[in-house]
Amino acid sequence: MTRHEPGQLMKKGMSREAITAELNKARDEDVGWISGQSWGLVYHAGEDVDEIIREAFQLFAHGNGLDPRAFPSLKKFETEVVAKTATLLNGGSDAVGTMTSGGSESLLMAVKSSRDQARDLRPHIKEPEMIIPQSAHPALDKAAHYLGVKTVRTPLGSDYRADLDAVRKAINENTILLVGSAPAYPHGVVDPIEGLGELALEKRINLHVDACLGGFVLPFLERLGYQVPVFDFRVPGVTSMSADLHKYGYSAKGASAIIYRNPDQRRYQFFVVTDWPGGLFGSSTVTGTRPGGPIAAAWAVLNYLGEEGYTRLAKEVMETTRVLQEGIISTGKLEILGDPVMSVFSVASSYIDIYALADTMAEKGWQLGRQQNPPALHLIVTPPHTRIRNTFLADLQDSLHRVEGSDPEACEGIAAMYAMMGTMCHQTDLKQFAIDYLDKTYQLEDKKSSKR
Ligand SMILES: *Cc1c(COP(=O)(O)O)cnc(C)c1O
Repeated sequence: MTRHEPGQLMKKGMSREAITAELNKARDEDVGWISGQSWGLVYHAGEDVDEIIREAFQLFAHGNGLDPRAFPSLKKFETEVVAKTATLLNGGSDAVGTMTSGGSESLLMAVKSSRDQARDLRPHIKEPEMIIPQSAHPALDKAAHYLGVKTVRTPLGSDYRADLDAVRKAINENTILLVGSAPAYPHGVVDPIEGLGELALEKRINLHVDACLGGFVLPFLERLGYQVPVFDFRVPGVTSMSADLHKYGYSAKGASAIIYRNPDQRRYQFFVVTDWPGGLFGSSTVTGTRPGGPIAAAWAVLNYLGEEGYTRLAKEVMETTRVLQEGIISTGKLEILGDPVMSVFSVASSYIDIYALADTMAEKGWQLGRQQNPPALHLIVTPPHTRIRNTFLADLQDSLHRVEGSDPEACEGIAAMYAMMGTMCHQTDLKQFAIDYLDKTYQLEDKKSSKR
């Protein structure tokens, strides 16, 4: 057999068996998400749910949600997923929305609809601004950057939640949008949505609540009797919300929902070209072709789990979160930042170098998120963690002993790149470093080695 040149098509295609073998071999290199080694990235609800997802993908891998007349199936699935999500978030009878490829696209749509609405209704605003707390997801910076909206980041309070006074002070005549998170990714705390809602109403600006993480957990925690601050459309000023089906919705990647209180705002999300020779072109979201698999899978999983399934999973995940947090606090060397409401939290230390702890845990196979300002580890607890929680705590205890005497200030003020590249002490130009990293990462393995 001739050597496989990864940058070229093979002269003759590989056999199906060989493909299967290569796919499985490649997958074995990935983080062990089924066994709970990653604390984020994958939200796995069990083999039965996976079977449902695989079936939906098999049946709808070729489906294209771009044309609802050709694919009434996907239109049905999408509208039902959106309606169910809106109901969960107490959207009221007018609430509408669309499915998107993920949280980033949902946020992009929230910013786009707000920008175009402001262009239409408040045309005197030439340089629109949006105000987002320090903890809000960077997908919002990305959206603002793509759309020519200025982002104003406001500081957090000592509880890591948005500081309402700072938000109030940042509002000016160009402000078109406020954002709160439920919860915010870094510390798992819910911003004061009611206070933000009052500000939004008073100043007549939109308020988006980013419930990408919490949208399919918080409603069930309320049913279970947990203390959850009001975070959804029950707050009068909230105009839109995002919730990720591919996170705690437990569906496959490529599925999120953007929900609007009012159909008027959704109209500003849509994009139309009327004079193209190819015909009248209308597109509801960023993507043109819209993959059917994620839409069908989200519909299937929502219906398979139902209220009972989501409540059971929320309960399990919260119980594991409690065990983990108690174990972490009982070490006497670690603390949980803020008052996380659900199964997402961060761990800091004033005794040891928290990144050294992460390195030692990584040697034991645990992939923990690394945060900055302040330095902390990040955990998103999912069902696979129930089985391994005691092993994890034992490994944590052992790792703590091994890093005893390390300097808690070692990396102070230096970035730990978000979800990508571990600790980077002593880097000066972080932006260039990160761009170099991305540039190098998306190269063929062969090329990388020949250049070195
Ligand atoms: C994950 C996340 C996003 C971005 O979603 P993607 O699906 O990764 O694009 C936005 N906001 C919050 C709070 C998130 O947790």
